Amino acid sequence: MVDAVVAGGGPAGSTCALLLARAGLTVTLVERATFPRRKVCGEYLNSGAVAALDRIGVLNDVRAQAFALHGVRLVPPHAPAVELPFTSGALSCERETLDAILLRAAVYAGVTVVHGRVEDVLRDRGRIDGLWVRNDDGTAYEVRARWTVGADGCGSIVARRAGLVRHSWQRPRFAVGGHYTGFGDLGGFVEMYVGAGAYFALNPLSHDMTNVMVVVPKSALKRWSGFVDEGVAGKAAELGRGHRSFAAAHRAGTRAAYGPLAHSVRAPITRGAVLIGDAAGFLNPFTGQGVFLALTSAEHAARAIIASAANRAGETGAFATYAGDRRADFAARKRLSAAVGWLIDVPPLARRAAAKLARSPRLSATLVDALAGMRPPQTALVPAVLGKLVL
Ligand SMILES: Cc1cc2nc3c(=O)[nH]c(=O)nc-3n(C[C@H](O)[C@H](O)[C@H](O)COP(=O)(O)OP(=O)(O)OC[C@H]3O[C@@H](n4cnc5c(N)ncnc54)[C@H](O)[C@@H]3O)c2cc1C
Repeated sequence: MVDAVVAGGGPAGSTCALLLARAGLTVTLVERATFPRRKVCGEYLNSGAVAALDRIGVLNDVRAQAFALHGVRLVPPHAPAVELPFTSGALSCERETLDAILLRAAVYAGVTVVHGRVEDVLRDRGRIDGLWVRNDDGTAYEVRARWTVGADGCGSIVARRAGLVRHSWQRPRFAVGGHYTGFGDLGGFVEMYVGAGAYFALNPLSHDMTNVMVVVPKSALKRWSGFVDEGVAGKAAELGRGHRSFAAAHRAGTRAAYGPLAHSVRAPITRGAVLIGDAAGFLNPFTGQGVFLALTSAEHAARAIIASAANRAGETGAFATYAGDRRADFAARKRLSAAVGWLIDVPPLARRAAAKLARSPRLSATLVDALAGMRPPQTALVPAVLGKLVL
């Protein structure tokens, strides 16, 4: 029996595991993929994520292999681009690299990493007390633990088996993309091209390598069956409207596809278990908050488990504090993401909001900082910000 077992070795799982191990707990982390592994992601690390990596102690390692970003260039339909500068450091970093650095740091902290697929949670008298894991050779075994952490991402098996999942009302969308050369130097700006119900995002990973994501409704993906590359290029050309297209672009490596982009839970805790990162709820990736939320939810959950282990707070109180803080922050981030999603989905509103942001650096800084985790999301959920964008 270990103190904690963590399902998933993405940013959330590795961070939580390493913080628990540094606090002296025995920790086993179960990961089904062989690292370094690919993860479909825009690979943008917002300022809040960068600050969290600094707190965790891996920022120098990440920065050595990352690319500095200066802001977002938002291109609304049939209107000029607007540049929204970041107010503090943001980076782009390939997920193969970022996730491997965090997992390595967890191993260095004393975490036992095992390769296997989590298939179920274990229960004892109504309390979750570990995971049921299957090896590549088909054998299965139990990992019993005082606390179980579900960090197995969007569609989490831990969330499902713990009975915590609820129906998501988000419209099912899918992302397709990959790493490309040939888009030229974006000047350290993430470019977002928005149109009704879809967007096309370019994130510079270096001066000549770009992360490309096209996000479309399920219906578009169905139409592209058998011609996905052509569909993606066509959508990018439509949204890029001559500024950007795939005309000179070449994919480096495999195409990445992911969806549906939705996962929702009714609570991030139950007796004996906590959910963190995407396993605890997924936000529209347009706003680029996923890694920030993975890291910060891991920090908060680790604090709750460490407090329970030290008997400073009973598990119920410590987990309730985690759930309450998470619920308040996540609900506000969800509302802010929904508001931004609504603005970019309706072309006249996207044009109006972009024009307002171009005219007011203060408005731009407030929105950018709220989305980047540098100020509470609630500060942007006020008429003085959202109202100004649409009126
Ligand atoms: C298209 C797209 C673009 C995005 N762009 C950005 C962006 O630019 N910036 C940003 O901050 N966020 C972005 N995100 C969100 C971001 O990728 C996630 O929020 C982040 O990866 C969450 O980290 P995590 O550790 O919770 O989960 P994950 O990174 O998904 O890690 C989960 C881990 O669990 C493992 N796992 C899953 N199931 C099992 C199992 N049964 N047994 C064992 N292991 C298992 C997986 O192999 C994986 O390693 C994007 C997401 C998408 C889909």
